[in-house]
Amino acid sequence: MINWETSFVSFSGRMYTPNDESFSSFCKAFNGNFKKRPACILFPKSENDVASVLLFAKNNNFKVSVHNGGHSTIASGLNNNHLVLNMRDMAGVSMSEDQNTIVVGAGALAHEIDDVTTKFGKAIPLGDCPVVGISGLTLGGGIGFLSRSVGLTCDYLIGAKVVTPTGEILTCNKNSNNELFTLLKGAGQGNFGVVTELTFTMVDIPTTVYGGNICWHLDDAKEILSNYDQLLKEAPNELNLYARVNEEMGPMVKVYGMYNGDPSIGKQYFDTIRSWGETIFDNAKEYSYQTIQKINETTIVDSPCFLWKNGLIDETLSSELIQTLLSAYSNRPTPYCRLNIDTIGGAVQKPKELSAFAHRNSTYVLSVMGVWFDVKDKNECIRWAKETMTEIEPYLNGKIYVNYADPECANNPEKYYGSTGKRVLEMKQQMDSKGILIGTLNPERSEFS
Ligand SMILES: Cc1cc2nc3c(=O)[nH]c(=O)nc-3n(C[C@H](O)[C@H](O)[C@H](O)COP(=O)(O)OP(=O)(O)OC[C@H]3O[C@@H](n4cnc5c(N)ncnc54)[C@H](O)[C@@H]3O)c2cc1C
Repeated sequence: MINWETSFVSFSGRMYTPNDESFSSFCKAFNGNFKKRPACILFPKSENDVASVLLFAKNNNFKVSVHNGGHSTIASGLNNNHLVLNMRDMAGVSMSEDQNTIVVGAGALAHEIDDVTTKFGKAIPLGDCPVVGISGLTLGGGIGFLSRSVGLTCDYLIGAKVVTPTGEILTCNKNSNNELFTLLKGAGQGNFGVVTELTFTMVDIPTTVYGGNICWHLDDAKEILSNYDQLLKEAPNELNLYARVNEEMGPMVKVYGMYNGDPSIGKQYFDTIRSWGETIFDNAKEYSYQTIQKINETTIVDSPCFLWKNGLIDETLSSELIQTLLSAYSNRPTPYCRLNIDTIGGAVQKPKELSAFAHRNSTYVLSVMGVWFDVKDKNECIRWAKETMTEIEPYLNGKIYVNYADPECANNPEKYYGSTGKRVLEMKQQMDSKGILIGTLNPERSEFS
């Protein structure tokens, strides 16, 4: 029996074991299907704290998961019976004096960065969910409302501090540990080391932008999705949109996003979008950039259970694909099952630096989510998500976006990282030969793997 207090005498942060009342609150994964119970959860305050936990794990045959915002679709930031490093107490965000870079603690959430940068008229590209963790987001790529106009979150990373599984503290950037730095951008989630600090460059953002959500009844979905595809082909990269088929206000199709530029030009694009049919909801208007980043905060339900499958499309959304998706959706086993069509392309295709993100030439990330709250619906939702993916497989390029990690994709780096996958595996072996870290490359076995 391990005495955790005496095991971590030099650890300066908070520590929780199953005997502590608040322990279960730190075991919560966004995907409620994954119920995890680690042996001990530690909140480090410094790189030395992180190193001491990794060395303890190495010497005592424990594995370690790293937890930032907890939004992993496969709960890879948690585990059963091993150690968790929860980075939330290392979450400072500080702007450089010249206001060109920010240094972010690995435990920060997306909106905590916007809270600082937008005061200076700056931003880094983030995702559409304000409470996703910055480490998970960046280390898997990072697609959001600025992607088409300026690129991915990871494209703005210019430096990182990493504690290796052997307890070494590394500075990674263009000039130092460059290959590791390159692979961190897109393939870094819990694979090579624990990131404690991230440094980003930023872009200027307009004070206000035009954007929001426009929704129509599901009956109009075929036409709306076809118009969505056509508009994105023709519109400038400043226009960034996502599409959803779901049941937020009854069965419906939603197009949302923003125009990163003059709001009066943005309004013209959203006027075109609203002309596509009789809308059932429309809150598109001029907002502050910070508000639009949080526009869908209230639609996030607490701990749904889901199987999130995704695939990449390199072409347009053909009418056959749209028809196949909508027929599948009409047979969804629960009202919560949904289809997400996220746009990429534009500036994502032209990164200034190399990274492990493997989807530069794709146009959309298509997600099929079997979602349930009642366990009696679980098997049907899993079947529905898998069968729908099989039906649309001919339209996909065979790769998978790691930020929407697929529980059936364990130990399959080519699917996540394409031709870089081999190098990612070699780096994992070089950095973590004992497999101490649990990450998206080697998640814990689950019912799906
Ligand atoms: C509701 C929702 C909305 C989303 N929206 C978007 C979106 O718009 N765009 C997009 O690109 N993605 C999006 N995602 C996916 C999200 O970016 C990924 O799931 C991301 O990995 C979550 O990061 P996290 O820190 O919140 O999660 P966690 O579960 O804490 O971590 C995720 C992974 O990163 C690893 N990790 C975390 N911190 C560190 C660290 N410091 N060092 C090393 N490894 C670390 C963990 O070990 C784990 O494997 C969304 C997910 C959800 C559930």
